[in-house]
Amino acid sequence: MDENPSYQLCFLKRDVETNDDEIYNIVTGTGVTYYNYYAVAVDGEEKLYVPTFEDADSIINQLKEKDSKNADKLAIIKKYETEQKEYTSVDVAVTNLYEKKITQEIKNNMGRVTRAGNGGNTYKPVAISFLKPVQASITSRFGSRWGTTHKGLDFGAPTGTPIKASAEGTVTFSGWNSGGYGYLVIISHGNGIQTYYGHCSKLLCKVGDYVSAGDVIANVGNTGDSQGSHVHFEIRINDVAYNPEFYL
Ligand SMILES: [Zn+2]
Repeated sequence: MDENPSYQLCFLKRDVETNDDEIYNIVTGTGVTYYNYYAVAVDGEEKLYVPTFEDADSIINQLKEKDSKNADKLAIIKKYETEQKEYTSVDVAVTNLYEKKITQEIKNNMGRVTRAGNGGNTYKPVAISFLKPVQASITSRFGSRWGTTHKGLDFGAPTGTPIKASAEGTVTFSGWNSGGYGYLVIISHGNGIQTYYGHCSKLLCKVGDYVSAGDVIANVGNTGDSQGSHVHFEIRINDVAYNPEFYL
C-alpha cells in the first residue's frame, strides 16, 4: 500500500438543496475512501492504531499512571489513510507498550547487573515505585555470589545511618532473624509485594506500624551474617526475590 497517501482539497458548491449526505456521496464518488483513526506514538514512532480518540486517550492515561517518567514521550496522532489499519484493543495496547518499554529497560540494565537464578533478572511490573533505602553506593549486587544467590542489593553505609522505607506499607516483621539477616525489618506493600532491610544495628519500627515511603525504620548496622556495615535490601513478589536495581 502507499505509505504516504496524497490529499486533495476541493471546494463543493453548497446550496440549500445540498446536505451532508450528498457531500459525502460526491466525495466518496471519486472512488477513494479515507479512514480516520488514531495512532499512539512513543518517541514519535507510531506503535499501534485504534479507531477512536477516546481509545488512544485511555491508553496514554493508563501508561502515564504506570510510568510517569516516560509520559512526555507519548503522543496521539490523528490519521487518515485509504486502507483501514488493524486496530489494537486498549488492554492489549497498554500491556504491549508497557512491556516493550520494560524489555528495553532490562537490556539497558544488563551491563550493570550480575546474572542470577531465583526471581532473577526478570522484571515483573508492579504498580508502586520504590525509593533507595539509603543514599549510598551499592557494594554488592543481586545475583550469584560465593556459590549461592544474593537475593538483594547491599548499600554500604556507616553504622547508625538512617534506613528509609522504600515504599509505604505495613511492618510485618521487626526483630532478630537467625537465618543471617541479623536485625531485620520486613514491610508488606500489598499484592504480595514486600521489602526486606537486613543487618540493622537498631530497629525503629514495630510489627503493625504503617509507614510512608521515606520514613526512617531502622539504622544501618553489621548484624547477622555480615562483613562490614551495610543494609541488605530485597524486593520480593509472592516471596520470590527480584533484582531491586530494576525498581529503584
Ligand atoms: Zn546482601
